[in-house]
Amino acid sequence: MGRTAPASTILIAGGGPVGLTVAALLAADPRTAPDTSIRIVEWQPGIAWDPEVTDARVYALSRASQRTLDSLGLWRTILGRRASPYRNMRVWEGDGGGASASIEFASADIGEPDLGHIVEDSLLRTTLLEFLAGFSNVRVTFGASIEAVRATSGGIDARLSDGDTMEASVIVAADGGASRVRTLLGLSVAACDPEQSALVAHVESELPHAETALQRFLPTGPLAFLPLADGRSSIVWSMPTAEADRLTALPDAGFLVALQDASGNALGRLGPISARTRFALRTVHAHRYCAPGAVLAGDAAHSVHPLAGQGMNLGLLDAACLAEELGRARERGNDYGDHAVLRRYERRRKGDNVTMLLSFDALDRLFRLPGAAAPLRMFGLGAVDRTPVAKRFLMRRALGLEHAIRRAAA
Ligand SMILES: Cc1cc2nc3c(=O)[nH]c(=O)nc-3n(C[C@H](O)[C@H](O)[C@H](O)COP(=O)(O)OP(=O)(O)OC[C@H]3O[C@@H](n4cnc5c(N)ncnc54)[C@H](O)[C@@H]3O)c2cc1C
Repeated sequence: MGRTAPASTILIAGGGPVGLTVAALLAADPRTAPDTSIRIVEWQPGIAWDPEVTDARVYALSRASQRTLDSLGLWRTILGRRASPYRNMRVWEGDGGGASASIEFASADIGEPDLGHIVEDSLLRTTLLEFLAGFSNVRVTFGASIEAVRATSGGIDARLSDGDTMEASVIVAADGGASRVRTLLGLSVAACDPEQSALVAHVESELPHAETALQRFLPTGPLAFLPLADGRSSIVWSMPTAEADRLTALPDAGFLVALQDASGNALGRLGPISARTRFALRTVHAHRYCAPGAVLAGDAAHSVHPLAGQGMNLGLLDAACLAEELGRARERGNDYGDHAVLRRYERRRKGDNVTMLLSFDALDRLFRLPGAAAPLRMFGLGAVDRTPVAKRFLMRRALGLEHAIRRAAA
């Protein structure tokens, strides 16, 4: 059992994309490097991107996320490996005929080359890990978790599941929606369990996806098709958990029949389909993002409904903001765990996150309301589609362009 206590240590719980991005931004920042030791603890045994197989887990990354990765020189690497741009988006309810409404977005309408890119989880993590391997002050421990944390006068004491103990100036909890570190810190959350699950898989289609992301609102929840680089589409199908149980039990052929029907034939005949993965959907928001010597980022602070594909994008904005505040603290001679430093980060991120979380939750509820709400929804979708200013605002917001402007001005 070793005990590490360098001058300044930042301990990151969770080697997910958000935790790794915080680490990469800090490692690359001349204000924090190289006298700050960065330690990442990830309980999975390790991760490696396989160029031959498209990962089951993909994210629609916004321009704001692209810029964060580009600031590290990593966006080029990701594009060179595998990423699929989407230039259009179509959102609709109903059967696509008379009793339906839809909105269509096109990147050309806001003078942008695309509305975002679909990037695999393992590719994102592998690229960040390779970058971090170039820094002697960064250490990643796989296959271990944080078992105990205790605030001290100098920051935090932590005990790992492998028996290791360490002192750090601050612990960044980036250990996902069910964050154990958040619980250990006693940080409370507002949580809503809609008893919904999402089924995820990659599917071939008769019609080309034409670099268009599709989302159909069904009475049971939204079904999204995200265009992949290999011509297939990644589906994210949200539904009540009981329905997910039923569909999970079906063989591929039976599942494809249900999917075909739910798709409204938007991509023609569907199939074959890859193995299906399932996620429980829970909306969680921490009341506070910081405690003495500790701070939350990404899903540990907020988990949002995947219907707008924004959870990772919000998490990467957290990462950029937190790294900026920690860099600023070091420049001014403050401790990383200084309460004022962590509170400033919380103030900068909480408003945005709450707004997004409430909008996704409201959208999900609105589209699951039965009967009487349908004309209202159709009117709303149609009205937005006919109002270019509203459409441009929504596109800029989804791309994170508004966030980027505010960040730069902060
Ligand atoms: C079906 C679905 C589709 C989605 N699609 C999109 C999308 O298109 N675009 C988008 O922006 N967002 C999307 N999201 C949201 C996105 O997945 C999350 O917001 C994102 O993964 C959060 O990243 P994170 O690094 O904070 O957490 P995670 O990705 O959950 O990573 C947390 C890491 O911490 C590790 N860990 C957990 N506990 C411990 C512990 N005690 N000690 C050490 N390590 C620990 C885990 O192993 C994991 O590696 C989607 C979510 C779902 C469910």
